[in-house]
This record gives sequence, structure tokens and C-alpha cells, in this order.
Amino acid sequence: MTTTRAGATAPVLFKAACPDCRGRFELDPDAFRLAIGASRRTTFYSFTCPDCGRAVRKPAGERIVELLSGGGVRTLRLHLG
Ligand SMILES: [Zn+2]
Repeated sequence: MTTTRAGATAPVLFKAACPDCRGRFELDPDAFRLAIGASRRTTFYSFTCPDCGRAVRKPAGERIVELLSGGGVRTLRLHLG
């Protein structure tokens, strides 16, 4: 069996849920922002709920950081060095 790829990277969708309107949806990496701070408390990801428009911010553990950054989410490093 040969695996063929179209050349473009496969579209990645991340599941997310809004704590405000309880909406559940899948968003592409462009919809997310990942912020990596010096500590876990300042490491989080955010997105805007497509249903109610609320800016949602959630803490990001190491797994989530790996998942999101590996999936092409824009990463903002809050600490220097
Ligand atoms: Zn919402």
C-alpha cells in the first residue's frame, strides 16, 4: 500500500467548548492563540467563541501546548530568552 499525500498539510481541527454558552465546535489552528509564559499559570490558549463571540481563555498544560503548536497554532512567547 502506498500512501499518497496531496502535498498540502492535512487540515487540523481542534475541538473546543465555550464555558459561557456551552457551545461545542471545531476550530482550525488560525482560530487559536497560544501564549507561553514563564510558568504554567501564565501559559494558556485562547480563542473566540464562534457562537457567542466571547473570548475564551484556558490554561494550557504541556500536552496542549505540544498539540496546539504542533498543529500550527500561532504561539506567543511571553517570556524572553
Ligand atoms: Zn460561546
